[in-house]
This record gives sequence, structure tokens and C-alpha cells, in this order.
Amino acid sequence: MTAPNPLLEVKGVVKSFGQLRALDGVDMTVSRGKVTGLIGPNGSGKTTLFNAVSGFLKPDAGTVVFDGRVVTGAPTHQLARMGLKRTFQNTADFTDMSVVQNLLTSVRTVPGERLSRLFTSPRAISASERSLVDRAWILLDRLGLVELANVRAGDLSIGQGRLLQIARLLMEPPSLLMLDEPSSGLNPDDQDRLSATVRQLRDVEGVTVLVIEHNMSFMNAISDALYVMHDGHVIASGPPADVIRDPLVVETYLGV
Ligand code: ADP
Repeated sequence: MTAPNPLLEVKGVVKSFGQLRALDGVDMTVSRGKVTGLIGPNGSGKTTLFNAVSGFLKPDAGTVVFDGRVVTGAPTHQLARMGLKRTFQNTADFTDMSVVQNLLTSVRTVPGERLSRLFTSPRAISASERSLVDRAWILLDRLGLVELANVRAGDLSIGQGRLLQIARLLMEPPSLLMLDEPSSGLNPDDQDRLSATVRQLRDVEGVTVLVIEHNMSFMNAISDALYVMHDGHVIASGPPADVIRDPLVVETYLGV
């Protein structure tokens, strides 16, 4: 797939684990302001590709270009500063803090302790702190977490915890948000809230999203383009409606 001035370009990326070529020359282009989905059977290389793009694994060969800069093998903190953020399938937030405290302390520019005082002496806060608090409540509202704002993060369900993890990343909107199976563990209402949030991020805030997802109805609700992986290769890419009809995809992935 070609796109003018893409936000992310992966070119010929190879990653082996011993004899296994988990990524065998992967090319991928993620267009700005779009939601790009990544699907494929278990073991096809999706997570390895996410790790290679987000700095958790160094590719053996190939190039990753983010926002016009070669970032192959760059560390995660550098990529995060450039605006690339990702979720993981399993991560615990700060379980002893409340949901809203988790959001406020996720902002790098403000010391957590100072933010925590926002709850005890809200009149003393500055305009920039006020805007962070407002942002937190907007995100809680969008993701259906308002009623849980003061609940300990450790007491959330798996699905609610996943929404909180995403909300934390959105306090300072990234330019590229990478979501690893975001709908897993979510009930249908939470899936709908999350897909609406992703569309809103794209349409209102201009965030580009790259998402791994097994749930095809969720994927259909959000994605503008799809890549299909199999055995470390991209076997199809393009508009979702075309890709899911591609005979190779039907045969190797959808299995019908
Ligand atoms: P997917 O996310 O599509 O399920 P993965 O990227 O997790 O696939 O895995 C691709 C292949 O690489 C699998 O065969 C997996 O067992 C292997 N693999 C992934 N990570 C490692 C690792 N750290 N060490 C050895 N093999 C790995």
C-alpha cells in the first residue's frame, strides 16, 4: 500500500529467534490520521512486529521510519518522546491508586504528588493543571469510567483495566497509538465505547492508530486499512472489504 508522507514505514524487517524467522522481510505503511489493523493467526508475527516497531526488540535487518526519521532499534523512551505509544496485552496499572489518580499521574510533566493534591485542594491549581483534570474527566466519560473514578485500579475488571491503560496513554495524545488486542476482555458495551473512542481520536484529535485485533467485528468498526500476516510475512493489505475477500486470506486465515 502506498500513501503520501506516511507516519510509519516498515521496510524489509527481519527478526529471528534461533532458527525461527518470526519476521521474514515485512513491509508495512501506516497512513497518517487512519486506523490500520493488523490481523493474522497466532504465531504469525504480529506481536514481534509491534515489538520491533516500538523499540522492545531490535530488528536483525530492515528499517523502521517514524515521522520521517529512521528509528530502527531506537529505545522505547525515545520513541515515546516522539509520540509513539503502545499498549500491552497484559499490564497492571498502579493498582493502589484510584482510576482518576492513575490518569493524573501518567502525565510526565507534572510530579505525581503535586497532582494528587488536586483532589485535596482543588482551588489551588493552575490553569494547566486544570486542563489536565478536565482531560482526565473527558476520557473517563468517553470510556464509560466516570462512575469508577474513585475506585482502586486493582479492583477493576480486566476489561475496565484495559480501558484505563488506554486512557492513561491518551492523557497526552500520541501521534501513533499502537493497541495490542484492545477489545479482549471487554464486554460488548465497552467494545462499543472503545471503538467510538478510537474513531473520535482519529477524527477529532488526528491520532494515527495501529491495532492488533482478533475480533473482526471490532476491527471492521474501526479500521481504514488492514494488513494480514502469516508465517512472518504480510500476505495481503489494503481496504478491509477487499482484504477479507482476498482468496489467500480466506484460505490461510479465515479458514473458510
Ligand atoms: P502473534 O503475535 O502473531 O501471535 P508472535 O509475534 O508472538 O505472533 O510470534 C511469532 C513467532 O515467534 C511464534 O512462532 C513465536 O513462538 C515466536 N516468538 C515470539 N517471541 C519469541 C521469543 N521471545 N523467543 C522465541 N520465540 C519467539
